[in-house]
Amino acid sequence: MIRDFFLEKIKEKQLTSSTCPRCNNVYFPPVEYCPRCLNKVDIKYLPLRGKIETYSEVSVATGFFKPGYTVAIVDINGLKIPGIVKDAKYDEIKIGDEVEVVFEKYEGYPNGPEYWYYFKLRKR
Ligand SMILES: [Zn+2]
Repeated sequence: MIRDFFLEKIKEKQLTSSTCPRCNNVYFPPVEYCPRCLNKVDIKYLPLRGKIETYSEVSVATGFFKPGYTVAIVDINGLKIPGIVKDAKYDEIKIGDEVEVVFEKYEGYPNGPEYWYYFKLRKR
């Protein structure tokens, strides 16, 4: 299953996407078959660096998340990847900041994955 593969790679500190060799569409998280042309896709490993495209502070959250965290959309190789920015307050972040992808134990919903990816600001 592609979901298990994706989570297994996260555990191995790798982020995966898929690219359709026929129509060149790219998918994150990866899919097994291209939803546009139904071709089998190729798995690609993403670089573990990107740039913040946009971000926001979450001040209201369900009981599983502690409010006051920052979420961002990060551009990695043209893919827009959503995630939580660790160890950075909202007002410490700027659009265009470089982040690296880090992998840590998942904190959130009780039946969530064991590990998950997060973003960390690279030093300016
Ligand atoms: Zn396709």
